[in-house]
Amino acid sequence: MRLFAATIATESNTFSPLPTSLDAYKESVFLRPGEHPEETPRMCTAPLWVARRRAQADGFTLIEGSCFAASPAGTTNRADYEFMRDEILGQLRAALPVDGVLLGLHGAMVAHGYDDVEGDVVARVRALVGPTCVIGVELDLHCHLTVKRVIGADIVVLYKEFPHTDVVERAEDMLAIVLKTIRGQVKPVMSLYDCRQIGSYPTTLPLMRAFVDRMKAMEGSSGILSISIGHCFPYGDVPELGGRILVMTDGDKARADALSSEIGQEFISMRGKTAPQYHGVDEGISAGLAVEGHPVVLADPADNAGGGAPTDNTTILRRLIARDVPNAALGPIWDPIAVRLCFAAGLGATFPLRFGGKIGPASGLPIDAEVTVTGLKRDCWQSFGPTQVPLGDCAAVRIGGVEVVLITKRSQALGLELFSNLGIHPHTKKLVVVKSTNHFMAAFGPIAKQVLYIESDGPLSRDYAKIPYKKVQRPIWPLDEVTTPRLIV
Ligand SMILES: [Zn+2]
Repeated sequence: MRLFAATIATESNTFSPLPTSLDAYKESVFLRPGEHPEETPRMCTAPLWVARRRAQADGFTLIEGSCFAASPAGTTNRADYEFMRDEILGQLRAALPVDGVLLGLHGAMVAHGYDDVEGDVVARVRALVGPTCVIGVELDLHCHLTVKRVIGADIVVLYKEFPHTDVVERAEDMLAIVLKTIRGQVKPVMSLYDCRQIGSYPTTLPLMRAFVDRMKAMEGSSGILSISIGHCFPYGDVPELGGRILVMTDGDKARADALSSEIGQEFISMRGKTAPQYHGVDEGISAGLAVEGHPVVLADPADNAGGGAPTDNTTILRRLIARDVPNAALGPIWDPIAVRLCFAAGLGATFPLRFGGKIGPASGLPIDAEVTVTGLKRDCWQSFGPTQVPLGDCAAVRIGGVEVVLITKRSQALGLELFSNLGIHPHTKKLVVVKSTNHFMAAFGPIAKQVLYIESDGPLSRDYAKIPYKKVQRPIWPLDEVTTPRLIV
């Protein structure tokens, strides 16, 4: 048995002022066949990584293709996308014949000229391998679950957890179903239900937690192979943006249709009840200071690099400084030039620094302050579950009672190392402000006395009515009150 695996992935915020080119992939994941590290998967590469570890025991030969992934930002350059795609297709052509193809994709990638990158990849793979080869795909739950990709693939499995702590487990699920299909033990059929809604659904809150746990309990019995809840990615303006439910059964299309519709109706009934409460900037800071004990973690989801935001909005920081808040830390702010200036000034130096507030109107104005450099470290990393995320060269600066982490490689706050790399210990701080929507919860949730969410004026507003959509199919909730949810595959 011969399987081919590859990755091409990013999450494209089509409103972002930061274009994504080959440089962004080279900075994040740019691995040619055989170059993928042994220890841990990288962004969206779990299918290849899991297959490599299981090839011998499961009796197949793995042919590794390239893995390309970039941190979320704006739309990918067209020529760069086609270059990466065609490299992978060329490797696949050279590997033929294969029994199966494993694709580690994100699912919300947009390139200029391609609103549905993953649909394009899957369709071109299908054209090469023919109808009997088994195509398995793993996607982030923040994907556009388009009809084209669902019809083009045999098996599609999404992450179930947000924060995404189950990337490896879902790749294992996907591979297991691919192997059973090739061996003729199952015949997967998929149904897709379109809930016609935009929303945010952290699985750390009780309603979504119970919903996901129930889906998981259904899998593996009565012919149900897999259930995926597509949350949607609200900041990618493409026609098929929206929440969708995918059910895969063993040969029973009627059962898949009924179950995806039933789960879809339940997901619709949860509209408006799944997101946390958001505070205003000053109100959130005051609420944090009023909590007995520490640390209080304040999240700034509107400036989350993980959703394609620049991560240099200064609004919360400006208020912390103006209010002279003691014993606070904030991170990250992406500003490679400021990091360079801090290295030039040296550890312990006090000097006037302009930082943040550069990339677009939603970044706010830069901070001009007399800062003291309290930490400098080259080539930093932070952990996210089993994966290591690069931060590049980093600097910490102190302004009054506030310490700020400046980074070179744009990322959201994921691991405690973001701070501890530079000698800042989040456990000891009164307030820890993190730029992240919910992934920070994996590491910062356990140490937090309390977690509060602030709606800043960063680009990723939770108020979807503020987003200037042009392409998304209407009607869709909450932009429209009346919608027409339905089975679409
Ligand atoms: Zn995601």
